[in-house]
Amino acid sequence: MTTEGSLRADIVEVGRRMYARGYTASNDGNISVRLGSDRLLMTPKGVCKGFMSPDMMCITDLDGRKLQGEREPSSEMLMHLEVYRQRPDVQAVVHAHPPTATGFAVAGIPLTRAVLAEVLTTLGSIPIAEYATPSTSELPMAVAKYIKAHDGMLLANHGALTVGADLLAAYYKMETIEHFARISLVARLLGRENLIAREEVDRLQGLRGTYGIQAPAPLCDDGTTAPVDVGTCQVVEAPEGRGQRLVPDVHDSPPRRPFDQPNEEAEIRLTYRELSALIEEAVRSLR
Ligand SMILES: [Zn+2]
Repeated sequence: MTTEGSLRADIVEVGRRMYARGYTASNDGNISVRLGSDRLLMTPKGVCKGFMSPDMMCITDLDGRKLQGEREPSSEMLMHLEVYRQRPDVQAVVHAHPPTATGFAVAGIPLTRAVLAEVLTTLGSIPIAEYATPSTSELPMAVAKYIKAHDGMLLANHGALTVGADLLAAYYKMETIEHFARISLVARLLGRENLIAREEVDRLQGLRGTYGIQAPAPLCDDGTTAPVDVGTCQVVEAPEGRGQRLVPDVHDSPPRRPFDQPNEEAEIRLTYRELSALIEEAVRSLR
């Protein structure tokens, strides 16, 4: 059995790693773990997660009443409580603002494409919970829609949330999300993102048992016309492979040039006034 002392030390260590990796800045982010069946150990409000000590943590009940600790519990406590209410299997919750994943959350682009086997076998799909004002009861409501079927999600214009069977498992999922976001960003900047075919995705799902990974929910049936319930299944963008394991990017395009180099082959549009002004300027410079 994990003792309270070791859980306090684990929270300090995870906070230190999150801050060192740039997943949080200043006092951002929060961490909690279950302490027995009816209490939570949680990071306090308003402290940098990179410089915590074990005695700083708060103990609350499952309704958020503070039972122990000199400081007030995290400002995102309501979000943590909602997760524990909906997921009896979850032992720990981690929230941070890793910059690449948060960039996807700001752009409104979920990480739901079948791209990496490791992501498909661990998290599956990483959706975006709708925007909600941080620290209000809106945020738990936004998270509630997805948390039954997902172990990790982006929070629109805010950050990311992960859960796990222990604190390190929840933290590693945060690392996986940020790593996946970085790889996805690079592939998209290079102009091509080949997808893993549906048949291969199903095979990877089948291997989860071999790896000892429990999925929170199966993939949504992409053959159905019925509305998808993201509370019971995961949406993964994986096209039919027809014998191929990888499906070429349907948005296939030549590699993009760096932003500061104009593409000389690209078409541009000018109004007559803009074109006339350019010609007049060129003629003037010739005189
Ligand atoms: Zn936050």
